[in-house]
Amino acid sequence: MKEKILNFIKSKLFSKELQQLENLKEENRKLKKELKKQKIMNSFKDEVISAISHEFKNPISIINGYIETILESNLPPQTQQKFLNKIQKNTTRLSELIDRLYLITKLENKKLKPSFSTFKLDLLIKDLIQSFDEERISLNLTPTTITADKKLIEIVLSNLISNALKYSKKEITINLNEKYLEVIDKGLGIDKQNIEMIKQKFFRIAKNDWDNSLGLGLAIVEHILKLHHTHLEIESEKGKGSKFYFDITSLKDKEHPQQ
Ligand code: ADP
Repeated sequence: MKEKILNFIKSKLFSKELQQLENLKEENRKLKKELKKQKIMNSFKDEVISAISHEFKNPISIINGYIETILESNLPPQTQQKFLNKIQKNTTRLSELIDRLYLITKLENKKLKPSFSTFKLDLLIKDLIQSFDEERISLNLTPTTITADKKLIEIVLSNLISNALKYSKKEITINLNEKYLEVIDKGLGIDKQNIEMIKQKFFRIAKNDWDNSLGLGLAIVEHILKLHHTHLEIESEKGKGSKFYFDITSLKDKEHPQQ
């Protein structure tokens, strides 16, 4: 009873001060949370910068190495040709990296206006597969006409297919049915906690295994699909494989709005 009375008097006498104290505590909590977020962001930025510089430095030093050898040694024309091809391959790699950085910036800043046309998706997939020059791709395609930005959809497919080939040694399957376009592999798979993360820009699971990859592919895919009123879905099991797919119903709509 005595304690209750005491608390009542205290709360009446110091109510303003107690409230201020509570506010300060709340402020302090918020600041600590913000500081933690900033620390995570800073270390993430460092990782991103080191990923970008690594991905650029690697082909540049390969190019330099070949140029030096060509200039300093008297190589037979056949070897010179071989080295020049390697130089070309690495300059292409550099220019693809720059293209990807440029594309994600444009998509993020909403500077990219899709240009819609009506075309056969199954034929686009068949054409695209030719450029991969891979025997591990199995196709299961229902003839489907869609209205979409052809170049952007090609980028989506190309990212999903090259990932499936990159992260799996076995055959991959592309299914196009009434409702979905699916790219399925029986490769590395992804654990649950990483599934949602991998759509984030610069997120990569195997951080030490730099292989012409900046973790931009799926972020680009997600942005492009959003422009087409659909989104990327992922089902995966670590060690078993993955299915990356999206609903194509909105693309089959002839009245697709020009944006
Ligand atoms: P990256 O250029 O690094 O491949 P992505 O954005 O395409 O960038 O993919 C992000 C990460 O998601 C990859 O680094 C990889 O760890 C994981 N990932 C993507 N596709 C697959 C797949 N088919 N199987 C397993 N992991 C994948």
